[in-house]
Amino acid sequence: MIEAGVAHFQATGKRTLLEIVCRIADHICQVFRSGEFSDAYPGHEEIELALIRLYEATENRSYLDMAKAFVDRRGVEPDYFQRESNHPKWISIFGEQRNAPADLRYHQCHLPVRLQKDAEGHAVRAVYLYCAMADLAREYGDEELQQACEALFQSIAQRRMYLTGAIGSSGILERFTCDYDLPRDRGYGESCASIGLTLFCRCMLRNTCDGKYADVMERALMNTVTAGTALSGEAFFYVNPLKVWPENCLPGTSMEHVKPVRQRWFGCACCPPNIARTLASLGEYAVMSRGDTVWVNLFPSAAFTVSISGVPVQIQCQTQFPFSGEITFSVRAERPVQGSIALRLPDYVSSYSLTVDGAPASIQADRRCSQIKNRVSR
Ligand SMILES: [Zn+2]
Repeated sequence: MIEAGVAHFQATGKRTLLEIVCRIADHICQVFRSGEFSDAYPGHEEIELALIRLYEATENRSYLDMAKAFVDRRGVEPDYFQRESNHPKWISIFGEQRNAPADLRYHQCHLPVRLQKDAEGHAVRAVYLYCAMADLAREYGDEELQQACEALFQSIAQRRMYLTGAIGSSGILERFTCDYDLPRDRGYGESCASIGLTLFCRCMLRNTCDGKYADVMERALMNTVTAGTALSGEAFFYVNPLKVWPENCLPGTSMEHVKPVRQRWFGCACCPPNIARTLASLGEYAVMSRGDTVWVNLFPSAAFTVSISGVPVQIQCQTQFPFSGEITFSVRAERPVQGSIALRLPDYVSSYSLTVDGAPASIQADRRCSQIKNRVSR
């Protein structure tokens, strides 16, 4: 609801819903900043992202500080969550975890977040946590937190991710398990988990402008996030294994979670609206601007309005990508401005060329950042 309040404000300029969600966030800060819940933190990470987004919209620093406290409290002894899970009235939403000792790894609280090296536990919760860590690393200039994010990204991208960008390979408990455990027919790969991974990549891109995050972002977006919805927009996949054997998708078996066709809706309907909001905000993933540079991370056929040194600039991208490798950009500024356009060089591209106004142009390819930078002025 907090994210909806921010999105409504940004889309309409109206503060009606924003003011309501600010009161909710104020109440959260009041309850969790001190007193009985001063060491508490969420079981399902998500509020951290909402509070950071609300801070970006309102510049009220108490929301950012609350998000940081939730992240910093995680995995620190004495552990509030462990204490809470021992309470006689505490129940897990998952039957498998009822009457079992608290699985701290599952809840990403087995270590303080700065010491975590592997992506663990419930996949959606994990990547939402990593998004918050990356945003906080940027806002507080926290290099240690940024390094933890890098280690967690490498754990996912190198050892715990399908080639489709799907993550969380276990259908039981929707979780990461161990390195290279990526079964193709009974994998889980929740659509929301790949959306969270896409968000995490965007956060890391904002921090570093390194194209390797865009490579993973594109992989997850094109192969799992968009596969999670039918072209009609009216049917959805919750889980995205590499292989589906329809006769084998039987209730009460290890394949129960796999559906041979997209479903109209779900009892726990997180994925359909998550896909919708991701597609509606695709521009925020495709391009970003920093000072006098525009970074083009993805190549959808679309027009974007960005800022170069404060001047609104429209960039029109025309392409059949990925069915064709040719991409044409038209750039139009409201008034003369000088700046750079940094085009992502995907990791699967081995040869490339650039023309400006029809004439061959030189390219400074920076493989370290997987980006092509070319100075242009209009
Ligand atoms: Zn979901």
